[in-house]
Amino acid sequence: MRTSDYLLATLKETPSDAEVVSHQLMLRAGMVRQVAAGIYNWLPLGLRVLQKVEAIVREEMNNSGALEVLMPGVQPAELWRESGRWEDYGPELLRLNDRHNRDFCLGPTHEEVITTLVKNEIRSYRQLPLNLYQIQTKFRDEVRPRFGIMRGREFIMKDAYSFDVDKEGLQKAYDIMYAAYQKIFTRLGLEFSAVEADNGAIGGSSSHEFHVLADSGEDDIAFCKALEFAANVETVALPPPADSRPEASEPMREVNTPDVKTIEQLATSLNVSASQTVKTLIVKGEDGLVALVIRGDHELNAVKAEALENVISPIAFASQDEISREIGAEPGSIGPVGLNLPIVIDQSVAVMADFICGANKPEKHLVGVNWERDLPLAEIADLRQALQGDPCPGAQNGETISIRRGIEVGHVFQLGRKYSRSMNAYCLNEHGEKTLLYMGCYGIGVSRIVAAAIEQNHDEAGIIWPESITPFSVCIVAIGYKRSEKVRQAADQLYQQLVDTGVEVLLDDRNERPGVLFSDMELIGIPHRITIGEKSLEKNQMEYKYRSAEDGEAVQADQVLNFIKSKTSTQ
Ligand code: ATP
Ligand code: MG
Repeated sequence: MRTSDYLLATLKETPSDAEVVSHQLMLRAGMVRQVAAGIYNWLPLGLRVLQKVEAIVREEMNNSGALEVLMPGVQPAELWRESGRWEDYGPELLRLNDRHNRDFCLGPTHEEVITTLVKNEIRSYRQLPLNLYQIQTKFRDEVRPRFGIMRGREFIMKDAYSFDVDKEGLQKAYDIMYAAYQKIFTRLGLEFSAVEADNGAIGGSSSHEFHVLADSGEDDIAFCKALEFAANVETVALPPPADSRPEASEPMREVNTPDVKTIEQLATSLNVSASQTVKTLIVKGEDGLVALVIRGDHELNAVKAEALENVISPIAFASQDEISREIGAEPGSIGPVGLNLPIVIDQSVAVMADFICGANKPEKHLVGVNWERDLPLAEIADLRQALQGDPCPGAQNGETISIRRGIEVGHVFQLGRKYSRSMNAYCLNEHGEKTLLYMGCYGIGVSRIVAAAIEQNHDEAGIIWPESITPFSVCIVAIGYKRSEKVRQAADQLYQQLVDTGVEVLLDDRNERPGVLFSDMELIGIPHRITIGEKSLEKNQMEYKYRSAEDGEAVQADQVLNFIKSKTSTQ
């Protein structure tokens, strides 16, 4: 491809509305353009990368024995009513009507459609195992579409669904997918980790997420090298604190805290550490509101809170109005003393003495508060998010977790018989008995991978593509292509030779200053660059530079083809 024939839509300025590097670089490199919030056009350069990711995913899915299908993006409501998710799914499901006023939705996932398809095609265990997958556009009306295509509303997913006659079959299918995912992310050239995504309550590991590790990730991953432990921090259960509760040493008293809205402001105004304060969060429960109390320097773990019997799932915080109505206090000044609601406190709160909390009155807090003296000890639970340095689950020798951020790019999940039960998907087992199918589902965020790869691989100048998904492998920067017959001839010849050898090459033949040519090629991230200019040609040389190398090197002009071939064929 020649840039003069291409839509090279690079931008000099960093678009101001793009928060993360991958979004900025995808816009600046001319890979995508926004159409509406969370909805994007893929330009030729971006599409090349997307299609490479797709090709690797498709190849490894096929290698694993899965079969490709294509299901519709628009799905009838009846199927969702059958599974019970028409009511349960919430506003991420975009619902629409056709001209006959029938209900439809845009598919955010395809369990309903695939279960219906398979139950109509499969009669006997002899037709199993079966794993069907597709690479297709999904629509989820995300509350906060952001970070460009990383969290879009319309995005491309590979979703696979396995069907087996028994649990053992499902485990096998799961293991095969797990191994295929390892291959896929390795081939993509990304630093990734498979992490446990449930707390093992169902027995064993029935769900893993695959994360690309990058500082901008939205998820915290807890690692312990010594114990080979990696889990989404949401799932990390914490043991009760080793220390017991100290004796009370202060009387409880009320203090004025004007203009204090946050824990930081509270800690600063009273000159204490945030760990001496507690925050009281009011959430909706099965019968009325529930107060959850955690230490001021801790974060609530929503998954743990949702698991409480009395708390509704997904977690819903009470509105300001509800809080004022039910408690008669402002959200910033609530505390457990005298609070007439069911109260659940985190384990670490139960061992606090002389702590500080809201007084349930505007602009007032209580200091020197003590359990079993100023208020009864409440129900205790593990409610907080694990932190760096917390004990690793299963630690025998004081092993602790460290936390890194990750971008979820894949998810493997044992569904069991959830959908086959609600949608009556049976087959006959080897004894001729009707038995519900065991299902697994396996997603990969194909479009998200493009952004995740950039988050992990970039520098000041732009993207640094892993070889496996780069839009072009080699670029030829021809300085003075339009002016110099010699440069033109050498560039055209090398270009044609590379094309003939099957190397994906971009010839930059634009009539621009060398600085513009170099910075554009660096921005779009092509790994191998050959520069051809009159001066070096006089010495019978061209310059080679690897994208992430500091400096270039001179290569004999007649050796360049072999040189590049050796560089690109080792990949
Ligand atoms: P998240 O927690 O990021 O919302 P999810 O748990 O909803 O993800 P799954 O339903 O497991 O995601 O979907 C499979 C994969 O699809 C995810 O691992 C992710 O890579 C990708 N994905 C999910 N939502 C989006 C989105 N809004 N934009 C782009 N990719 C997405
Ligand atoms: Mg989601």
